[in-house]
Amino acid sequence: MAEHHVIMPEEDDTSSDEVDTHANKVPEHHVIMPDEDDSSSDEFDARANKMSTTDNCKRNLQPEFAAAACIRNTATLDHVMEVFSPPRLVPAAIQRGLRGHWSLDLDTGWNLLCSTDQDRCCQLVESCRPGMLMLSPPCTMFSPLQRMWNIPKMDPAVFQSRMAAANKLLHFTVTLMKLQSKLGGGFCFEHPVAASSWQDPLVVHAVATIPDCQVVNFDQCTIGLRSPAGGILKKRTKLCTNMPAIQAVFLDKQCRCTVPHTRIQGSGLGFNIAAHAQVYPSGFVQALLNSCEKYLEGKRFWQ
Ligand SMILES: [Zn+2]
Repeated sequence: MAEHHVIMPEEDDTSSDEVDTHANKVPEHHVIMPDEDDSSSDEFDARANKMSTTDNCKRNLQPEFAAAACIRNTATLDHVMEVFSPPRLVPAAIQRGLRGHWSLDLDTGWNLLCSTDQDRCCQLVESCRPGMLMLSPPCTMFSPLQRMWNIPKMDPAVFQSRMAAANKLLHFTVTLMKLQSKLGGGFCFEHPVAASSWQDPLVVHAVATIPDCQVVNFDQCTIGLRSPAGGILKKRTKLCTNMPAIQAVFLDKQCRCTVPHTRIQGSGLGFNIAAHAQVYPSGFVQALLNSCEKYLEGKRFWQ
């Protein structure tokens, strides 16, 4: 099926605020853009059902966990760990010769709605002391398009339950940001620019108070995000991080496309484009790892 190409009015919603610094941490005004993430409710249903069936936390812990909990030797500290993500940053890091073991996600047996798994996740971060902790919590319930199209049709009880789950995961992300900061490591939390999560009071407070915490916006078209049929997807994205190297790497990744973007809606070649766009393109992964290497340079702790 051919994708529907639409010439969007320039959807750049951040004229001069590409980097918000400590001096300018007022949450920016978010415009509802049609080009933003519009994850399918079907996919959300599938993940929600999976969570409900694993909510008892009865799963097999990965066998490395016991060993990792004993790790205190700096020569074996992880460089990279990722949460709310199937293995994508960690395998690419290993290919570069960096160390990493953990990708904590439903797909790898972690239900982070469950407080037991949250506790174990925190223990793992404290044990492995990753140099960089990548945080990619689900963004569907914070999507403007989701709020505009799907939520009005949703049963109020279902909405409440999904929103509560999304907020719980978002707030656990803040917990991990603070923990990682306290441990002296870097973190990177990623959500779409237009997501309402950026106005969440706990997120706003964390951005304002965690040392060196800043945000940077960029466009995923600059790092190779394409639709299944090859259309250019913009997907304006915000990173919240205490790693200055991420600012340096992503600051100039702003859309300069001269051809129209494909809307992140509907389907292309039988794939849901929004779901497809949630997978990090390899250019994003490599840019994150470039940032990680730069950040860890000179930090003997992680050599
Ligand atoms: Zn572009």
